[in-house]
Amino acid sequence: MLIVKKFGGSSVADAECIRRVANTIVKSYKEGNKVVVVLSAQGDTTDELIEKANEINPNASKREMDMLLATGEQQSVALMAMAIEAMGYPVVSLNAFQCNIYSTSTHSNARIKNISVERIENELDNKNIVIITGFQGINRNLDVTTLGRGGSDTSAVALAAKLGADVCEIYTDVDGVYTCDPRIVKGAVKLNEISYDEMLELATLGAKVLHNRSVELAKKYNVNLVVRSSMSDAEGTVVKEEAKVEKMLVSGVAVDKNVARIALIGLKDEPGTAFKLFSLLSKKKISVDLIIQSIGRSDTKDISFTVTRDDFKETIAILEENKDSLGYSEVKTNTEVAKVSVVGAGMATNSGVAAMLFEATFDAHINVRMISTSEIKISLLVDEKDADRAAEVIHDKFINTGIKARE
Ligand code: ASP
Ligand code: MG
Repeated sequence: MLIVKKFGGSSVADAECIRRVANTIVKSYKEGNKVVVVLSAQGDTTDELIEKANEINPNASKREMDMLLATGEQQSVALMAMAIEAMGYPVVSLNAFQCNIYSTSTHSNARIKNISVERIENELDNKNIVIITGFQGINRNLDVTTLGRGGSDTSAVALAAKLGADVCEIYTDVDGVYTCDPRIVKGAVKLNEISYDEMLELATLGAKVLHNRSVELAKKYNVNLVVRSSMSDAEGTVVKEEAKVEKMLVSGVAVDKNVARIALIGLKDEPGTAFKLFSLLSKKKISVDLIIQSIGRSDTKDISFTVTRDDFKETIAILEENKDSLGYSEVKTNTEVAKVSVVGAGMATNSGVAAMLFEATFDAHINVRMISTSEIKISLLVDEKDADRAAEVIHDKFINTGIKARE
Protein backbone atom coordinates (compact mmCIF):
# COMPACT_ATOMS: atom_id res chain seq x y z
CA MET A 1 0.00 0.00 0.00
CA LEU A 2 1.01 3.58 -0.55
CA ILE A 3 0.19 5.52 2.60
CA VAL A 4 0.43 9.25 3.28
CA LYS A 5 0.66 10.00 7.01
CA LYS A 6 0.43 13.54 8.30
CA PHE A 7 1.46 14.50 11.82
CA GLY A 8 0.51 17.83 13.37
CA GLY A 9 2.66 20.12 15.49
CA SER A 10 1.71 18.62 18.84
CA SER A 11 2.57 15.12 17.59
CA VAL A 12 6.16 16.17 16.86
CA ALA A 13 6.57 18.75 19.64
CA ASP A 14 9.77 17.39 21.21
CA ALA A 15 12.39 14.64 20.88
CA GLU A 16 10.23 12.09 22.66
CA CYS A 17 7.25 12.80 20.39
CA ILE A 18 9.46 12.62 17.32
CA ARG A 19 10.78 9.22 18.38
CA ARG A 20 7.28 7.93 19.01
CA VAL A 21 6.13 9.10 15.57
CA ALA A 22 9.31 7.67 13.99
CA ASN A 23 8.32 4.30 15.45
CA THR A 24 4.83 4.55 13.98
CA ILE A 25 6.30 5.38 10.59
CA VAL A 26 8.86 2.58 10.65
CA LYS A 27 6.24 0.07 11.78
CA SER A 28 4.16 0.86 8.71
CA TYR A 29 7.25 0.70 6.48
CA LYS A 30 8.24 -2.70 7.90
CA GLU A 31 4.78 -3.99 7.00
CA GLY A 32 5.81 -3.46 3.39
CA ASN A 33 4.09 -0.16 2.69
CA LYS A 34 5.44 2.77 0.75
CA VAL A 35 5.30 5.55 3.32
CA VAL A 36 5.13 9.27 2.63
CA VAL A 37 5.01 11.49 5.72
CA VAL A 38 3.93 15.13 5.87
CA LEU A 39 4.84 17.15 8.95
CA SER A 40 3.82 20.43 10.57
CA ALA A 41 6.20 22.63 12.51
CA GLN A 42 6.95 21.43 16.05
CA GLY A 43 4.56 22.49 18.81
CA ASP A 44 4.04 26.25 18.87
CA THR A 45 6.91 26.98 16.48
CA THR A 46 4.77 28.81 13.94
CA ASP A 47 3.28 31.10 16.61
CA GLU A 48 6.73 31.75 18.03
CA LEU A 49 8.05 32.68 14.60
CA ILE A 50 5.14 35.10 14.17
CA GLU A 51 5.99 36.67 17.54
CA LYS A 52 9.61 36.98 16.52
CA ALA A 53 8.60 38.78 13.34
CA ASN A 54 6.28 41.11 15.27
CA GLU A 55 9.13 42.17 17.53
CA ILE A 56 11.03 43.35 14.50
CA ASN A 57 8.32 44.54 12.14
CA PRO A 58 4.64 44.09 12.94
CA ASN A 59 3.82 45.09 9.36
CA ALA A 60 6.22 42.71 7.65
CA SER A 61 5.30 41.81 4.08
CA LYS A 62 3.55 38.51 3.60
CA ARG A 63 6.36 37.37 1.35
CA GLU A 64 8.92 37.68 4.11
CA MET A 65 6.53 36.13 6.64
CA ASP A 66 6.26 33.08 4.39
CA MET A 67 10.04 32.92 4.07
CA LEU A 68 10.22 32.81 7.87
CA LEU A 69 7.25 30.56 8.69
CA ALA A 70 8.24 27.90 6.17
CA THR A 71 11.37 27.23 8.23
CA GLY A 72 9.33 25.59 10.99
CA GLU A 73 8.31 22.67 8.79
CA GLN A 74 11.83 22.31 7.46
CA GLN A 75 13.10 21.75 11.00
CA SER A 76 10.53 19.03 11.66
CA VAL A 77 11.27 17.01 8.55
CA ALA A 78 15.03 17.06 9.08
CA LEU A 79 14.64 16.04 12.74
CA MET A 80 12.24 13.24 11.83
CA ALA A 81 14.59 11.94 9.14
CA MET A 82 17.41 11.95 11.70
CA ALA A 83 15.28 9.94 14.14
CA ILE A 84 14.54 7.34 11.46
CA GLU A 85 18.19 7.27 10.36
CA ALA A 86 19.11 6.53 13.96
CA MET A 87 16.77 3.53 13.86
CA GLY A 88 18.65 2.28 10.80
CA TYR A 89 16.01 2.74 8.09
CA PRO A 90 16.43 4.50 4.73
CA VAL A 91 14.82 7.90 4.76
CA VAL A 92 14.98 11.26 3.00
CA SER A 93 13.44 14.62 3.94
CA LEU A 94 12.25 16.96 1.19
CA ASN A 95 10.90 20.51 1.12
CA ALA A 96 8.41 22.10 -1.28
CA PHE A 97 11.15 22.97 -3.79
CA GLN A 98 12.42 19.45 -3.97
CA CYS A 99 8.88 18.09 -4.36
CA ASN A 100 7.78 20.76 -6.86
CA ILE A 101 4.74 21.75 -4.83
CA TYR A 102 3.61 24.64 -7.01
CA SER A 103 1.09 27.06 -5.58
CA THR A 104 -0.58 30.37 -6.37
CA SER A 105 1.26 33.53 -5.33
CA THR A 106 -1.09 34.62 -2.55
CA HIS A 107 1.47 34.72 0.23
CA SER A 108 0.25 33.40 3.61
CA ASN A 109 -2.77 31.81 1.98
CA ALA A 110 -1.57 30.14 -1.23
CA ARG A 111 -3.38 27.29 -2.94
CA ILE A 112 -1.63 24.25 -4.34
CA LYS A 113 -1.85 24.22 -8.14
CA ASN A 114 0.26 21.28 -9.13
CA ILE A 115 2.77 18.81 -7.77
CA SER A 116 5.13 16.85 -9.98
CA VAL A 117 5.79 13.75 -7.99
CA GLU A 118 8.68 12.12 -9.95
CA ARG A 119 11.21 12.85 -7.23
CA ILE A 120 8.97 11.40 -4.54
CA GLU A 121 8.21 8.31 -6.64
CA ASN A 122 11.90 7.76 -7.31
CA GLU A 123 12.67 7.96 -3.63
CA LEU A 124 9.90 5.47 -2.87
CA ASP A 125 11.15 3.12 -5.60
CA ASN A 126 14.56 3.30 -3.96
CA LYS A 127 12.89 2.02 -0.79
CA ASN A 128 13.17 5.31 1.06
CA ILE A 129 10.71 6.60 3.61
CA VAL A 130 9.92 10.12 2.36
CA ILE A 131 9.35 12.94 4.85
CA ILE A 132 7.88 16.12 3.32
CA THR A 133 7.33 19.63 4.69
CA GLY A 134 3.66 20.50 5.05
CA PHE A 135 2.32 24.04 4.73
CA GLN A 136 4.91 25.13 2.10
CA GLY A 137 4.61 25.79 -1.58
CA ILE A 138 6.57 27.61 -4.23
CA ASN A 139 5.09 30.03 -6.72
CA ARG A 140 5.89 30.60 -10.38
CA ASN A 141 8.90 32.75 -9.43
CA LEU A 142 10.13 30.05 -7.07
CA ASP A 143 9.34 32.21 -4.06
CA VAL A 144 8.32 30.35 -0.93
CA THR A 145 4.62 30.48 -0.10
CA THR A 146 2.57 29.06 2.77
CA LEU A 147 -0.89 27.56 2.55
CA GLY A 148 -2.58 29.27 5.52
CA ARG A 149 -2.60 28.23 9.17
CA GLY A 150 -3.18 24.52 9.51
CA GLY A 151 -2.27 24.06 5.85
CA SER A 152 -0.20 20.91 6.33
CA ASP A 153 -3.38 18.87 6.16
CA THR A 154 -3.91 20.23 2.69
CA SER A 155 -0.33 19.39 1.69
CA ALA A 156 -0.95 15.81 2.82
CA VAL A 157 -4.24 15.39 0.96
CA ALA A 158 -2.86 17.00 -2.21
CA LEU A 159 0.11 14.63 -2.13
CA ALA A 160 -2.16 11.65 -1.47
CA ALA A 161 -4.36 12.63 -4.43
CA LYS A 162 -1.44 13.17 -6.78
CA LEU A 163 0.40 10.00 -5.71
CA GLY A 164 -2.81 7.96 -5.85
CA ALA A 165 -2.29 6.88 -2.23
CA ASP A 166 -4.47 4.12 -0.83
CA VAL A 167 -5.11 6.14 2.30
CA CYS A 168 -4.27 9.53 3.80
CA GLU A 169 -4.03 9.35 7.57
CA ILE A 170 -4.13 12.60 9.51
CA TYR A 171 -2.62 11.99 12.95
CA THR A 172 -3.46 14.52 15.62
CA ASP A 173 -3.76 14.94 19.38
CA VAL A 174 -7.39 13.85 19.48
CA ASP A 175 -8.57 10.42 18.40
CA GLY A 176 -10.91 11.59 15.68
CA VAL A 177 -13.62 14.06 14.74
CA TYR A 178 -15.94 14.94 17.60
CA THR A 179 -19.45 16.34 17.62
CA CYS A 180 -17.94 19.43 19.25
CA ASP A 181 -14.62 20.44 20.75
CA PRO A 182 -14.48 18.30 23.94
CA ARG A 183 -12.80 21.22 25.71
CA ILE A 184 -15.96 23.25 25.16
CA VAL A 185 -18.66 20.60 25.48
CA LYS A 186 -17.99 17.77 27.90
CA GLY A 187 -20.57 15.47 26.33
CA ALA A 188 -18.97 15.63 22.88
CA VAL A 189 -18.72 12.21 21.24
CA LYS A 190 -16.41 10.80 18.60
CA LEU A 191 -17.88 10.10 15.18
CA ASN A 192 -16.85 6.89 13.40
CA GLU A 193 -17.70 8.38 10.04
CA ILE A 194 -18.56 11.76 8.63
CA SER A 195 -19.31 12.85 5.07
CA TYR A 196 -16.97 15.14 3.14
CA ASP A 197 -19.67 17.81 3.00
CA GLU A 198 -20.32 17.83 6.72
CA MET A 199 -16.61 17.77 7.47
CA LEU A 200 -16.05 20.61 5.06
CA GLU A 201 -18.65 22.74 6.81
CA LEU A 202 -17.23 21.91 10.23
CA ALA A 203 -13.67 22.63 9.12
CA THR A 204 -14.68 25.88 7.49
CA LEU A 205 -16.65 26.87 10.58
CA GLY A 206 -13.65 26.64 12.82
CA ALA A 207 -13.54 23.06 14.11
CA LYS A 208 -9.78 22.91 14.10
CA VAL A 209 -9.33 19.24 13.42
CA LEU A 210 -8.85 19.55 9.63
CA HIS A 211 -7.87 22.43 7.34
CA ASN A 212 -10.92 23.14 5.21
CA ARG A 213 -9.13 23.01 1.86
CA SER A 214 -7.82 19.56 2.70
CA VAL A 215 -11.41 18.35 2.89
CA GLU A 216 -12.30 20.12 -0.35
CA LEU A 217 -9.43 18.34 -2.09
CA ALA A 218 -10.25 15.01 -0.48
CA LYS A 219 -13.80 15.30 -1.81
CA LYS A 220 -12.70 16.39 -5.27
CA TYR A 221 -10.20 13.55 -5.69
CA ASN A 222 -12.08 11.05 -3.54
CA VAL A 223 -9.13 10.58 -1.18
CA ASN A 224 -9.63 7.95 1.48
CA LEU A 225 -9.15 10.17 4.54
CA VAL A 226 -8.82 9.06 8.16
CA VAL A 227 -8.35 11.28 11.23
CA ARG A 228 -6.72 9.47 14.15
CA SER A 229 -4.59 9.89 17.26
CA SER A 230 -0.81 9.84 17.23
CA MET A 231 -0.86 8.69 20.88
CA SER A 232 -3.03 5.59 20.65
CA ASP A 233 -4.12 2.89 18.24
CA ALA A 234 -7.77 3.84 18.65
CA GLU A 235 -9.73 3.75 15.42
CA GLY A 236 -10.20 7.25 14.11
CA THR A 237 -12.91 8.93 12.06
CA VAL A 238 -13.27 8.06 8.39
CA VAL A 239 -14.17 11.01 6.17
CA LYS A 240 -15.99 9.77 3.08
CA GLU A 241 -18.54 10.58 0.42
CA GLU A 242 -21.56 9.39 2.34
CA ALA A 243 -21.47 8.53 5.99
CA LYS A 244 -24.35 6.11 6.37
CA VAL A 245 -23.75 4.68 9.79
CA GLU A 246 -24.77 7.58 11.94
CA LYS A 247 -28.12 8.90 10.92
CA MET A 248 -27.92 11.82 13.23
CA LEU A 249 -29.77 14.95 12.35
CA VAL A 250 -26.81 17.01 13.42
CA SER A 251 -23.25 15.75 13.24
CA GLY A 252 -21.43 18.59 14.87
CA VAL A 253 -21.42 21.94 16.60
CA ALA A 254 -18.55 24.34 15.88
CA VAL A 255 -17.44 27.49 17.63
CA ASP A 256 -15.39 30.13 15.85
CA LYS A 257 -14.07 33.03 17.89
CA ASN A 258 -11.98 34.53 15.14
CA VAL A 259 -14.86 36.76 14.13
CA ALA A 260 -15.39 40.53 14.04
CA ARG A 261 -18.60 42.30 13.13
CA ILE A 262 -18.73 45.52 11.15
CA ALA A 263 -21.86 47.57 10.46
CA LEU A 264 -22.06 50.34 7.89
CA ILE A 265 -24.83 52.74 8.83
CA GLY A 266 -26.65 55.08 6.48
CA LEU A 267 -25.66 53.67 3.11
CA LYS A 268 -27.53 54.95 0.06
CA ASP A 269 -30.48 52.68 -0.65
CA GLU A 270 -29.85 52.19 -4.35
CA PRO A 271 -28.71 49.35 -6.62
CA GLY A 272 -24.98 48.62 -6.59
CA THR A 273 -24.16 49.66 -3.02
CA ALA A 274 -23.53 46.13 -1.77
CA PHE A 275 -21.68 45.29 -4.96
CA LYS A 276 -19.35 48.25 -4.51
CA LEU A 277 -18.67 47.37 -0.88
CA PHE A 278 -18.03 43.66 -1.28
CA SER A 279 -16.03 43.96 -4.49
CA LEU A 280 -13.68 46.40 -2.74
CA LEU A 281 -13.12 43.82 -0.02
CA SER A 282 -12.78 40.88 -2.37
CA LYS A 283 -10.15 42.74 -4.40
CA LYS A 284 -8.07 42.80 -1.20
CA LYS A 285 -8.83 39.09 -0.71
CA ILE A 286 -10.83 39.73 2.44
CA SER A 287 -13.54 37.16 2.79
CA VAL A 288 -16.81 38.21 4.26
CA ASP A 289 -18.91 35.70 6.09
CA LEU A 290 -22.32 36.53 7.55
CA ILE A 291 -24.13 39.44 5.90
CA ILE A 292 -27.29 41.24 6.94
CA GLN A 293 -28.91 44.16 5.17
CA SER A 294 -31.57 46.05 7.03
CA ILE A 295 -34.80 47.12 5.41
CA GLY A 296 -34.24 50.59 4.01
CA ARG A 297 -35.76 53.55 5.80
CA SER A 298 -36.32 56.76 3.83
CA ASP A 299 -33.41 56.55 1.40
CA THR A 300 -30.73 54.84 3.49
CA LYS A 301 -29.98 51.32 4.65
CA ASP A 302 -27.45 49.53 6.88
CA ILE A 303 -25.27 46.54 6.01
CA SER A 304 -23.62 44.42 8.70
CA PHE A 305 -21.11 41.71 7.96
CA THR A 306 -18.41 39.67 9.63
CA VAL A 307 -14.76 39.12 8.77
CA THR A 308 -12.00 37.28 10.63
CA ARG A 309 -10.29 39.28 13.38
CA ASP A 310 -7.06 38.98 11.39
CA ASP A 311 -8.67 40.95 8.55
CA PHE A 312 -10.44 43.44 10.81
CA LYS A 313 -7.90 46.27 10.76
CA GLU A 314 -7.37 46.06 7.02
CA THR A 315 -11.14 46.03 6.43
CA ILE A 316 -11.63 49.18 8.50
CA ALA A 317 -8.79 50.87 6.63
CA ILE A 318 -10.40 50.03 3.27
CA LEU A 319 -13.77 51.34 4.47
CA GLU A 320 -12.23 54.60 5.65
CA GLU A 321 -10.29 55.06 2.43
CA ASN A 322 -13.48 54.63 0.43
CA LYS A 323 -15.85 56.50 2.70
CA ASP A 324 -16.84 58.99 0.01
CA SER A 325 -17.54 56.55 -2.77
CA LEU A 326 -19.40 54.16 -0.45
CA GLY A 327 -21.34 57.02 1.08
CA TYR A 328 -22.07 55.70 4.58
CA SER A 329 -22.49 57.90 7.62
CA GLU A 330 -20.99 55.73 10.35
CA VAL A 331 -19.08 52.46 10.99
CA LYS A 332 -19.92 50.42 14.07
CA THR A 333 -17.73 47.50 15.10
CA ASN A 334 -17.70 44.69 17.61
CA THR A 335 -14.73 42.36 17.89
CA GLU A 336 -16.13 40.43 20.84
CA VAL A 337 -18.45 38.18 18.93
CA ALA A 338 -18.30 34.51 17.97
CA LYS A 339 -20.03 32.22 15.54
CA VAL A 340 -21.69 29.03 16.71
CA SER A 341 -22.83 26.65 14.00
CA VAL A 342 -24.61 23.34 13.74
CA VAL A 343 -23.90 21.05 10.82
CA GLY A 344 -25.73 17.98 9.66
CA ALA A 345 -26.58 16.38 6.35
CA GLY A 346 -29.88 15.37 7.94
CA MET A 347 -30.94 19.01 8.25
CA ALA A 348 -31.55 19.30 4.52
CA THR A 349 -34.57 17.02 4.76
CA ASN A 350 -35.81 17.91 8.22
CA SER A 351 -37.82 20.95 9.10
CA GLY A 352 -37.87 22.35 12.59
CA VAL A 353 -34.15 22.44 13.19
CA ALA A 354 -34.06 26.23 13.31
CA ALA A 355 -36.93 26.33 15.79
CA MET A 356 -35.14 23.87 18.09
CA LEU A 357 -31.98 25.87 17.83
CA PHE A 358 -33.62 29.12 18.85
CA GLU A 359 -35.48 27.36 21.63
CA ALA A 360 -32.12 26.25 23.01
CA THR A 361 -30.59 29.73 22.88
CA PHE A 362 -33.75 31.34 24.20
CA ASP A 363 -33.90 28.97 27.18
CA ALA A 364 -30.30 29.89 27.96
CA HIS A 365 -31.00 33.63 27.58
CA ILE A 366 -28.48 34.00 24.80
CA ASN A 367 -28.98 36.86 22.41
CA VAL A 368 -28.53 35.98 18.73
CA ARG A 369 -27.16 38.84 16.64
CA MET A 370 -26.97 37.37 13.16
CA ILE A 371 -28.13 34.18 11.49
CA SER A 372 -27.15 32.42 8.31
CA THR A 373 -28.33 29.13 6.90
CA SER A 374 -27.36 26.74 4.15
CA GLU A 375 -28.58 23.27 3.19
CA ILE A 376 -26.65 21.50 5.89
CA LYS A 377 -25.77 24.17 8.44
CA ILE A 378 -27.11 27.02 10.53
CA SER A 379 -24.76 29.64 11.98
CA LEU A 380 -25.54 32.07 14.78
CA LEU A 381 -23.52 35.10 15.73
CA VAL A 382 -23.51 35.63 19.50
CA ASP A 383 -21.44 37.60 22.00
CA GLU A 384 -18.10 35.91 22.58
CA LYS A 385 -18.84 35.50 26.28
CA ASP A 386 -21.93 33.42 25.42
CA ALA A 387 -20.33 31.28 22.72
CA ASP A 388 -19.24 28.22 24.71
CA ARG A 389 -22.50 28.11 26.60
CA ALA A 390 -24.43 28.39 23.34
CA ALA A 391 -22.46 25.46 21.94
CA GLU A 392 -23.24 23.45 25.03
CA VAL A 393 -27.00 24.04 25.05
CA ILE A 394 -27.26 23.44 21.32
CA HIS A 395 -25.15 20.29 21.56
CA ASP A 396 -27.34 19.06 24.42
CA LYS A 397 -30.48 19.68 22.47
CA PHE A 398 -29.42 17.91 19.29
CA ILE A 399 -26.79 15.37 20.12
CA ASN A 400 -26.97 14.29 23.72
CA THR A 401 -30.70 13.76 23.50
CA GLY A 402 -29.99 11.44 20.59
CA ILE A 403 -32.34 13.00 18.05
CA LYS A 404 -31.89 11.06 14.85
CA ALA A 405 -32.81 11.97 11.35
CA ARG A 406 -35.62 10.22 9.54
CA GLU A 407 -34.44 7.53 7.15
N1 ASP B 1 2.69 25.04 11.05
C1 ASP B 1 1.55 25.62 10.39
C2 ASP B 1 0.60 26.18 11.42
O1 ASP B 1 0.87 26.13 12.61
C3 ASP B 1 0.88 24.69 9.48
C4 ASP B 1 0.23 23.48 10.12
O2 ASP B 1 0.42 23.22 11.31
O3 ASP B 1 -0.49 22.77 9.43
O4 ASP B 1 -0.42 26.70 11.07
MG1 MG C 1 -2.53 21.61 12.35
